[in-house]
Amino acid sequence: MVTLEMSRTILTAHLDEALEQGICPICYLTSEAEYRYLDTLLYEKMNNGAIRAALARSRGFCRYHTYRLIEIGGYGTNVKLAILYKDLVHAMADEVNALKERGSQGQEAQEGCPACRIVADTERTHAHVLLASLRYEEGREAYQRSFGLCMPHFFGIYGAAPRETRAFLKEDQRARLEALADDLGEFIRKSVVKDEAFGAERDAWQRVIHQYAGTPGEMVRKPARDQHPHLTR
Ligand SMILES: [Zn+2]
Ligand SMILES: [Zn+2]
Repeated sequence: MVTLEMSRTILTAHLDEALEQGICPICYLTSEAEYRYLDTLLYEKMNNGAIRAALARSRGFCRYHTYRLIEIGGYGTNVKLAILYKDLVHAMADEVNALKERGSQGQEAQEGCPACRIVADTERTHAHVLLASLRYEEGREAYQRSFGLCMPHFFGIYGAAPRETRAFLKEDQRARLEALADDLGEFIRKSVVKDEAFGAERDAWQRVIHQYAGTPGEMVRKPARDQHPHLTR
């Protein structure tokens, strides 16, 4: 049985790992959770009744997660998709058949995309873990050595942070952004002048994208298809 203390330790270990990835740690952790969820669905939980029921209520995955599922599944996903969707399509036909031809008609699915829900839950859990670690000097040092938070996750976590953590986060983010602006300036200057070798600013244009947009799952984790030798090729 996993005790509360153990699960705290596991979460802290995940955060430590995430802080070393050179991207926003929350983007990293949510991408990992999203990958595991979709991968497990394809390789272990195809016949899981609860997942199928959730997919019926949400009318399948959102657009992003539908295509991410195919990307993760790779070759051999075609039959799995057919199996997964066959029941859903039957239920959808019934739903369409029951539409009223007059008056207002509810168009919304009963629930949102289940993979989006996993992402949101993971964001919430790890925001708490990060905020807990930022109460300690050691946690702050580890955070300062990392990429830091992308702007979307920064604003979300800043809003949830207690006052003294806010002071730390604010100063840290401001300093990072100033340094990034300087690096962008250097990158532009050297790109124009062309007679000076690039230094640490060479990837500033990539860092600014990760900073503003966060890092999507497909950039964090490519499918490791060799791990699934039972796939027919
Ligand atoms: Zn992020
Ligand atoms: Zn989704």
